[in-house]
Amino acid sequence: MSASDCIFCQIAAGTAACEEIYQDDATLAFMDINPANDGHCLVIPKAHFENVFDMPPSVFGTVASTAAKVAHAVNEVLRPGGINLTQANGKTAGQSVLHMHIHVLPRRAGDNLLMNWSRDDSSDRRFDPGHIAEIAERLRSRLRG
Ligand code: AMP
Ligand code: ZN
Repeated sequence: MSASDCIFCQIAAGTAACEEIYQDDATLAFMDINPANDGHCLVIPKAHFENVFDMPPSVFGTVASTAAKVAHAVNEVLRPGGINLTQANGKTAGQSVLHMHIHVLPRRAGDNLLMNWSRDDSSDRRFDPGHIAEIAERLRSRLRG
């Protein structure tokens, strides 16, 4: 897959929009466009690697390090009951975007979230771009500096 075909490469290059919350030289964090819960965000390497099998472990570690930093911010800002850090490798494992990413997924008591997180409640305000942007600003504030 070339970068021009990959939505996360386009986001990393700035040619596709995202609700960015943090970046450094090698990684980028932004809000998931279809969040499973409030505060659901993604951490990616800026360079294209399809999944863990396509990248040096050290680069995975760099992405994981940013995921931990973001998880701390999500935990402090949103105070969820818990957070899943999860990451799929391959379509069979549920990977739908073939550019490696780590989900930072806040959990709420009783959210009954299946790990494929399909939920039939599309009227929920967590899908509202304004609501997502408001949470993103709170996380940006925490991650700044
Ligand atoms: P996975 O199923 O593990 O590959 O997760 C892919 C995630 O990327 C899903 O949670 C999608 O909602 C999310 N996603 C797909 N396209 C975008 C996008 N353009 N901006 C933000 N998140 C996206
Ligand atoms: Zn890519």
